[in-house]
Amino acid sequence: MNSSRRSFIKRSALVTGGMTAGVGLMAAQSNLFRIKRQKEKLGIALVGLGYYATDVLAPRLQKTEHCYLAGIVTGTLEKEKIWMDKYNIPKKNVYNYDNYDEIADNDDIDIIYVVLPNSMHAEYTIRAAKAGKHVICEKPMALSTDECQAMIDACNENNVSLSIGYRMQFEPTTQEIMKWGKEKAFGDIKYVHASAAFTWPSHMPHDHWKLVRSYGGGPLMDMGVYSIQGARYSTQEEPISVSGQIFQPDTKFYQEVPETVTMQLEFPSGAVANLTTSFGMSTNQLYVVCTDGWFLIDPFSSYGGIKGTSSNGDILFPKVDQQATQMDETAICIKEGKPMRVPGEEGLADIKIVEAIEESIKTGKPVKI
Ligand code: NAD
Repeated sequence: MNSSRRSFIKRSALVTGGMTAGVGLMAAQSNLFRIKRQKEKLGIALVGLGYYATDVLAPRLQKTEHCYLAGIVTGTLEKEKIWMDKYNIPKKNVYNYDNYDEIADNDDIDIIYVVLPNSMHAEYTIRAAKAGKHVICEKPMALSTDECQAMIDACNENNVSLSIGYRMQFEPTTQEIMKWGKEKAFGDIKYVHASAAFTWPSHMPHDHWKLVRSYGGGPLMDMGVYSIQGARYSTQEEPISVSGQIFQPDTKFYQEVPETVTMQLEFPSGAVANLTTSFGMSTNQLYVVCTDGWFLIDPFSSYGGIKGTSSNGDILFPKVDQQATQMDETAICIKEGKPMRVPGEEGLADIKIVEAIEESIKTGKPVKI
């Protein structure tokens, strides 16, 4: 979906619904003006202090200019003091899963960033929206399209913004190829190959939630959504038909989730995509074949080192800090009342495809969308 259409959807979501939405919009605007007048930097609270929050988001929040790490939500008592000391977080901005909803009364927190296991995204996003806080929710958005829609509705009803943590859409090479897809810079797109996968590290436990189905574990939800994103943002189209297959060489290790998933997507233009994801191999590549040339991004969804080349030569852009840029741009859009670059609808579009792929895996047949 192109960004102007996304913006349109976001604007439409704000203006539909007659008087109620109109009153809500006025309330949201006055809320935004209040934020604008009072705050240079918006306060972010991280919910779930695991790998991504600890090793990636918190350090990147030390580099942001429009937002800062204002608070934490954790169920682990020992982490409270460590984070308070390390990041100078006052005790009044520290919450647990029992008193989470009290965050509604805390003016230091403007944005709640949900970094929990996938099965908890919907609940904690909806509760954040009800607390009147803007939300960034990590990918994959949720376990089902119903959950995604409920999250979007909750944010609209409470006049808060919702953004999904697809950091690649803030990265310049990715933004350039999205433009190429829209403008058909290399002619019509005929074929996309996207693979996003990693080998499960030996130090990671085998009972980790990412290997448990009910938590939203498995390679399709974890890395497969990057392959799906790559196909969608390079073609700027939504698939009309999908097929999926699983490969399970090691049934002892991967008891609940498949090791490898392959997928084929057909787009309205006639473009086709072949996608792979896995916990049993390392690959990260997006290759797009067009009528008048090609481009290849390898790696295409790593935190850094995004490298592009094309039939016209290398694709050269300055490196950016993806997460700092993502959080800063999100904060600016909230302060200025602008639509999100990666709204909830973008996460929903991926989960719609995930659901169709899972149905195809189950039935062994292609699924029309
Ligand atoms: P993690 O397991 O390291 O962290 C999850 C945190 O949730 C832990 O602190 C854990 O204590 C907490 N938690 C609270 N309730 C829990 C429960 N009932 N069961 C298990 N844990 C519970 O996971 P992670 O790798 O940090 O991933 C968190 C989210 O971030 C996931 O949605 C993941 O997809 C996403 N993520 C995104 C990126 C990215 O590049 N955008 C990278 C890594 C992870």
